[in-house]
Amino acid sequence: MSLDMVFLGPPGAGKGTYAKELVKLFNIPHISTGDMFREAVASGSELGKKVEEILKRGDLVPDDLTISIVKDRLSKEDCKNGFILDGFPRTVDQAKALDEILNFLGRELGYAFYFEVNEEVVVQRITNRRICKNCGKIYNLLTMPPKVDGKCDVCGGELFQREDDGEEVVRNRYKVYMENTYPVIEYYQKQNKLFTIDGASGVDSVIKEVLNIVRR
Ligand code: ADP
Ligand code: ZN
Repeated sequence: MSLDMVFLGPPGAGKGTYAKELVKLFNIPHISTGDMFREAVASGSELGKKVEEILKRGDLVPDDLTISIVKDRLSKEDCKNGFILDGFPRTVDQAKALDEILNFLGRELGYAFYFEVNEEVVVQRITNRRICKNCGKIYNLLTMPPKVDGKCDVCGGELFQREDDGEEVVRNRYKVYMENTYPVIEYYQKQNKLFTIDGASGVDSVIKEVLNIVRR
């Protein structure tokens, strides 16, 4: 099976953390639509201006915009041996569009991993999430704190909190997820491509489970 994979699950399920570890092992790119949108906002591009307020509220960027950036990205040379898509698809229409994009590229999705966690875990994790400004490493003040307050263990960079990681916006992101993204799980279930993993079981154990599934 191809190493074309999507990571599904609510905000805070750990998709980004797992993806960052796994792409090192598979040598394929980690494609996070959330990161792409945040980079656009930071750079002040046209796209950034369009999505800035949407991200602040925790709402979804319109499908047409999102699908077109994913299509461009997947067409790049570095995706030829596979990719991990993190944060896309988030609607059933995006999932259908992804099938069409892959079909157009002469390939097919291999796996849809669903990292399952409940709302309270989501809120606890996200409101305590801090990220290194320099290398992107993700910490949790309660469960994976940095050794020195406010500083990255790996590179010494400064840690910051994402603008959409406050409790109120997180609750909205969870609600948006249940309404729009949960149906995507059913979509992949019907295609027999869904693999459900307990997202509350710890990073190492999640990574092992994914590797077991991909290698069998
Ligand atoms: P999360 O931790 O909620 O999974 P992401 O970094 O994946 O966060 O996404 C951050 C924000 O970027 C979302 O709340 C949404 O506004 C926007 N976004 C990311 N991916 C998509 C997508 N596939 N469709 C629509 N909006 C998206
Ligand atoms: Zn760092």
